[in-house]
Amino acid sequence: MSFDTEFKFENFEEYFGDADQVSKIINECEVCTAKMVHTHLSDYKNLCVQESSRCPDCGHGNRKKIHVLN
Ligand SMILES: [Zn+2]
Repeated sequence: MSFDTEFKFENFEEYFGDADQVSKIINECEVCTAKMVHTHLSDYKNLCVQESSRCPDCGHGNRKKIHVLN
């Protein structure tokens, strides 16, 4: 699972603030502050990782990212 570390690193670079603030931004819905649900799909056939995070309460933040694994 070495790519998982890289994956998180990439996420951190998008946010400002310290580690606590970063994890808060990642884990909480900015609309209703509910806990976000994250889904990571590793697609080894196409060598990429898909990430999506969504708020189960209000449906906010349907974020999708494709990470290409080299
Ligand atoms: Zn929400």
